[in-house]
Amino acid sequence: MILEIKNLSFSYTDGDKTKQLFDNVSLSFENGFFYCVTGPSGSGKTTLLSLIGTIEDIQEGQIILDGESVFSNPFLYRRDKVGFVFQNYNLISYMSAIENIAIAMEIAGRKADMHQILGTLNLIGIDEETARKKVMKLSGGEQQRVAIARAFINNPDLILADEATGNLDNETSDVIVNILILLAHKFNKCIIMVTHNEEIAIQSDFEYRIENKKIIMIKH
Ligand code: ADP
Ligand code: MG
Repeated sequence: MILEIKNLSFSYTDGDKTKQLFDNVSLSFENGFFYCVTGPSGSGKTTLLSLIGTIEDIQEGQIILDGESVFSNPFLYRRDKVGFVFQNYNLISYMSAIENIAIAMEIAGRKADMHQILGTLNLIGIDEETARKKVMKLSGGEQQRVAIARAFINNPDLILADEATGNLDNETSDVIVNILILLAHKFNKCIIMVTHNEEIAIQSDFEYRIENKKIIMIKH
C-alpha cells in the first residue's frame, strides 16, 4: 500500500483573512511503518490528518491510495481503508467495549463477530471481563486501547491517530505507542500519529515535521 500526497496546498479563511497552512507539499506513507506528524500548535497537523481521512475537502493537489484518489469515493475509502483514533477516545460511553466494536463492524456492513472482537481486544491488552464493562468505567488508557481495537477491527490499511496519547500519563502513553508500533510492524498497518511529544516522535520510523507551510521528513 502506498498513500501519496502530491502538491498539496491548503488555506483557510478566518473572517477577512486568509491563512495558508500548506504550500505545495508532497509526501508519502507506506504500510508496515509507524509515522509521526509533528509541528507547532496551529501548524496544520490535525488538518493534514483530516485531509488524509477525507474529513476535510482538498483544495489543491491530490491524495492517492494505490493509484486512486481517496476523494473519488470517500465513503467507501473511510469505511474500508481507514481507522480513526482520537485524543478523547470518542467511544459510546454507556456501551461496553464489545458493543462499541460490534457497532464498528456493523457500520462496515459486517456481522459482529464475538470471537474476533475478543481476540482483537485481547491482542491490545483488554481481557473479557474488562471488555464487558461500560467504557465509562474504564481508565483512559483502557478506553484508548478499546478505541484502537475499534479502529483496527475492520482491517484497514491506515490508522490515523490525532494526539492519541494527549490525555494520558507517560507510562500509559508508552503502552499506547507500543500498541501502535505493533500494529505497524507485526500487522503491516500504516500508522500515522499526530503528536507534539518529541519522546514519541523519536520512536517513529519516520517523522514528518510541519514547518513554515512545508513538511520535512526526518528518519529515526
Ligand atoms: P494543529 O493540529 O497543528 O494544532 P490544526 O490543523 O488544528 O493545527 O489547525 C491549524 C490552524 O488552522 C488552527 O489555527 C485552526 O484554528 C485553523 N483552521 C483550520 N481549518 C480551519 C477552518 N476551516 N476554518 C478556520 N480555521 C481553521
Ligand atoms: Mg491538532
